Amino acid sequence: MHYRYAYIGLLLFFIVLHTDSAVYAEAKEDLYKERMALFKKTEALTQIPWYYFAAMDNYERNIQKEDEGKVISIEVPEELWYGLGNSSLIKNESLVTFFNGKGKDGDGDNLADPKNGDDILFTIGSYLLEYGQTEEDIKIALWHYYKRDLSVQTIMNTAKVFKTFKKINLTDRDFPVATNYNYSYRSTWGDRRGFGGLRIHEGTDIFAGYGTPVKSTTYGVIEMMGWNLYGGWRIGIRDIYNIYHYYGHMSGYEDDIQVGQVVKPGDVLGSVGSTGYGPPGTSGKFPPHLHYGMYKDNGYSEWSFDPYPFLKKWERMAK
Ligand SMILES: [Zn+2]
Repeated sequence: MHYRYAYIGLLLFFIVLHTDSAVYAEAKEDLYKERMALFKKTEALTQIPWYYFAAMDNYERNIQKEDEGKVISIEVPEELWYGLGNSSLIKNESLVTFFNGKGKDGDGDNLADPKNGDDILFTIGSYLLEYGQTEEDIKIALWHYYKRDLSVQTIMNTAKVFKTFKKINLTDRDFPVATNYNYSYRSTWGDRRGFGGLRIHEGTDIFAGYGTPVKSTTYGVIEMMGWNLYGGWRIGIRDIYNIYHYYGHMSGYEDDIQVGQVVKPGDVLGSVGSTGYGPPGTSGKFPPHLHYGMYKDNGYSEWSFDPYPFLKKWERMAK
């Protein structure tokens, strides 16, 4: 008898688990739709393209410790929002303006509320408009807002990706080496030395034969290309999650690949090689492999983290 209850309990547990993840995926999809509607609405109000709002919101969501499922994640600093003299943080829009605060009312309730999505985006739109509407104007406005080159670069790159694909729910991934070729890898992050890698190994080495296609794992923009003493022919991609993906020791690049180009998961970047550890063109000082490194930016600094668990996940997704 007890066994039967346990069995029914287990069955119910799996049903709940299954329904739960389906509901979660649907809720996530609704959140993307709600966000997109707000970005488009603000574009209509300010004539600033929606993808700049989307990119800024995405950037801030990714520097915050947890994704709390907020519709809009941009957090305007208090002083900037309310104005310097507005110490009681009065939300009335005309008072905020009186105190030279940037906070604006976007939904018509006469309040400039820094927790309200409409208000946040209309405030950001108005702020950007002070500098102008061209790409260069927006870049300058963002620099004045964040005072940090990497933040500006990440947002501009993300905007370019959103503009290219015309959507914000870009969640596909791919494995960096073609999975229909022979390859092998294990967790080597933090090792004293990798093959032809950096002194403290900041990545995972994926061993494969010369010429095996190397692919983009993510949506992003090519930020760096060319020869590096240790990395050989390397390529760096900044993705839409504030992560920099570093590929090293390649034998060469695919013909049409260039800096500033938007890429998606599966795009071929070049092929596996054994370049590095010498002047440009040096090759064959270690077995051919792809060095794959990942670096996260939290809005203040950038650090290396272990790509291995992500590679395992993307490998499953690719098969
Ligand atoms: Zn390596």
